[in-house]
Amino acid sequence: MARKTVKFRLYPNRSQRERLTATLDVCRELYNAGLQERIEAWKCRTPVRVFDQINQLPEIKAVRPDVAGVFSQVLQDTLRRLDKTYQAFFARVQRGQKAGFPRFKGRNRYDSFTYPQSGFALGTKLQLSKIGNLKIKQHRDMEGEIKTLTIGREAGCWYACFSVQYEPTRLPHSSNNIGIDVGLEAFATLSDGTRIENRYYKTAQAKLRRAQRKVARRQNKKSQRRHKAILLLQKAHRHVANQRKDFQHKLSTQLVQNFGTIAVEDLNIKGLSAGVLAKAIHDVGWSTFLNMLAYKAENAGRQLVKIDPKYTSQECPNCHAIAKKALSKRVHRCDCGLTIGRDHAATFVILGRGLRLQAQTAGQFAPVACEKPLPSGCLQGGEDVTLVMVLSEEERPAYRDRAA
Ligand SMILES: [Zn+2]
Repeated sequence: MARKTVKFRLYPNRSQRERLTATLDVCRELYNAGLQERIEAWKCRTPVRVFDQINQLPEIKAVRPDVAGVFSQVLQDTLRRLDKTYQAFFARVQRGQKAGFPRFKGRNRYDSFTYPQSGFALGTKLQLSKIGNLKIKQHRDMEGEIKTLTIGREAGCWYACFSVQYEPTRLPHSSNNIGIDVGLEAFATLSDGTRIENRYYKTAQAKLRRAQRKVARRQNKKSQRRHKAILLLQKAHRHVANQRKDFQHKLSTQLVQNFGTIAVEDLNIKGLSAGVLAKAIHDVGWSTFLNMLAYKAENAGRQLVKIDPKYTSQECPNCHAIAKKALSKRVHRCDCGLTIGRDHAATFVILGRGLRLQAQTAGQFAPVACEKPLPSGCLQGGEDVTLVMVLSEEERPAYRDRAA
């Protein structure tokens, strides 16, 4: 069984909007009060548990009609959320990592509440306990079983995020394999020679800058005009984020459908070299993309192999010599005669390492070399060079010709 989140836009009417906002306010107040209690308890060394806090809710409801007006599981979930933040903080402290103490949430820093089990029903409208029947745009079919519902506010719009449990569909076996180099220039380069550009990026950036300038020009902090400009900026940010996510979803789905084995660099390992480190911090988009790829591959029964990124952009995929080059050098030129685009060379190194790693970890493969001729268009200069990745004698016993 797998889990995924399905997000639909909500169109609440005015009174529903007021109730949604009121719910957020109550949850935020409860969160902050719960945090305050924990801080005081910590000072006098009598820790509070989440159950203790939940057990106080009936008392609070008795004297606060606005709190009583919120579905009780939503209130409980707010306190559980605080508990999670708190536990995560202590876990980091205990591991000796840098950790920020959980913070009080300001008016614009608390944007969602959760129905953990019940209190909602989805038909043509979304029925929410204590809030009403909300108009919802279901832009795709929902498959699987709904587990939880989180209602969130983003840039003035409301959304319903359903966490759904579903049975993933396994894809038929594929003997195709591919190496992916995540790049600083292009979004990714594939070992079949495909270069995937950051197309959404440029136009979106221009739009963002315009929205940012508008906010900067409205200097009166309390003005309605500034408030509107900020909303526009938030919308622009959301638009970029949505575009990016959409693009990454499409790409990862496509890769998983077409390739049985996918090799990527492991950007989460310690002691990365400068070039790899730049990749790792360049764009948080990378980690979300690789995560998407990981869970989709797992659900479909494909293999995602993460390899050590050391020298992937320096090593020659043909003779394995290390040719050190600066980041600005975009071509890999080796004494063995191979001249090839830098990123493209890296994809072969990544794929080669991935296949070797896969062979090592799955001993049942029969011995056969893996040949991977370069597509002709990508050779620059040395036209008579054919790149063939051959596994060494020790590596062979574990490799089966999957193309056969
Ligand atoms: Zn070489």
